[in-house]
Amino acid sequence: MDSLSDDSPRKVLERVSGALGCSPTSLDVATHLDKHDPLRHLRKQFLIPKVGDLPPSDLSLVDGAEDCIYFVGNSLGLQPRSARKYIDEELDKWAKTGIHGHVEGARPWAWAENNIEELMANVVGAKVEEVALMNGLTVNLHLLLLSFYKPTPSRHKILIEDKAFPSDHYAVESQIQLRGFDPQQSMLLMKCRAGEDTLRTEDILELIRREGDSIAVVMFSGVQYYTGQLFNMAAITAAGHGKGCFVGFDCAHAVGNAELKLHDWGVDFACWCSYKYLNSGAGGLAGAFVHEKHAHTVKPALLGWWGHNLKTRFSMNNEMDLVPGVGGFRISNQPILLVCPLQASLEIFSQTSMPALRQKSRLLTAYLESLIQHYYARDEAQPHLPSVRIITPPAPEERGCQLSLCFSVPIRAVFQELERRGVACDMREPNVLRIAPVPLYNSFSDVHRFVSLLGSALTASAGLPRGAQPSP
Ligand SMILES: *Cc1c(COP(=O)(O)O)cnc(C)c1O
Repeated sequence: MDSLSDDSPRKVLERVSGALGCSPTSLDVATHLDKHDPLRHLRKQFLIPKVGDLPPSDLSLVDGAEDCIYFVGNSLGLQPRSARKYIDEELDKWAKTGIHGHVEGARPWAWAENNIEELMANVVGAKVEEVALMNGLTVNLHLLLLSFYKPTPSRHKILIEDKAFPSDHYAVESQIQLRGFDPQQSMLLMKCRAGEDTLRTEDILELIRREGDSIAVVMFSGVQYYTGQLFNMAAITAAGHGKGCFVGFDCAHAVGNAELKLHDWGVDFACWCSYKYLNSGAGGLAGAFVHEKHAHTVKPALLGWWGHNLKTRFSMNNEMDLVPGVGGFRISNQPILLVCPLQASLEIFSQTSMPALRQKSRLLTAYLESLIQHYYARDEAQPHLPSVRIITPPAPEERGCQLSLCFSVPIRAVFQELERRGVACDMREPNVLRIAPVPLYNSFSDVHRFVSLLGSALTASAGLPRGAQPSP
């Protein structure tokens, strides 16, 4: 695959099927791509649930002993094998040594999270001093907005995409209210053009140019959770700065999925959770970024002892020696049991690189896209057959691994039939499925099997005779 890296994913797929002398839809293409996948060994470092263990599986339809098709790493990443070992080590240390665990062992609890900040910084393209691991995502968004959102009568707006993730919407709304402003006036929601599903970069930049003088903070997601659109963070940051705004990103769906260069882009602040593409387990330790240019000027609004210089943190003299930058935003000591699984996952990331993951990801997602279009694009000659429209942008640089599929039929029955067949994915009613083939642990064969099972699921849910819906 390496030698083909300069080609578009489409060209690679054509070339492989050409060389194999088979149809691009043949399982042989998937098998070949898996065999030549330089990252295929990483899958073995995760626990892949078995079909038989997933509650909705129907074992009269599928073999319970097979690995499930896990395409929902955009919602909850899989468990790294070493997570349990690390957690066991800390439970043992606690059992045997009690309080001594704070300063002893492989992960002294009093600074355990500091040991993995460098691994985290590499994934988001930041310097280690620009990253903190703490709290949950929405909490971090609040803490950052408390420092970066300082509205004045002339500059009081926060620009955010319309239909942002609800937690972000509420956070922004409540921050505006907290400052005594009215969300109706101060919350600027960027909508798509009529008839379009995603935002155009040129429209985002134009809106910032037009309204920028009244915008205090531009707060977009990195990858939009619903459409899978990857925003041009570099361009948005530059446009915001051109108008004197702070620019921050919620990278929940971008971290571990897209290549981030938070430092180089000059992003002012960012936050993310770690249980999606970062595989740290539900409610895992979240991340925050503050650019080093703000290290001595933008201060945390709320203080706690964990923002104090570590060297003298425990001398307890009640004179704050604040860590510069995002380190000073830490309030409480960090939960060691959440540090363990995040360490396990970040160590897997450190065995590869985001460019290498992205290279596989572009191909994996393009493969899914090409099979979906081949089998399920609307066929004018057979309008009675259910069809699929992909709302995620087609350009690889405008998306991460996720494709959002919009069906011509209500989605619930299709989703249930997929679940009965051992597929884990995400449904958004009325008619969208979000499918995330994750390059760390998903394979090209997973994609092929999914597309085949989707054919069975569509046939079963529509009550069509067997084989009415073409599929591989
Ligand atoms: C997943 C997600 C959240 C979840 O917030 P928590 O504080 O982790 O519960 C918030 N915002 C976005 C954009 C997300 O994708």
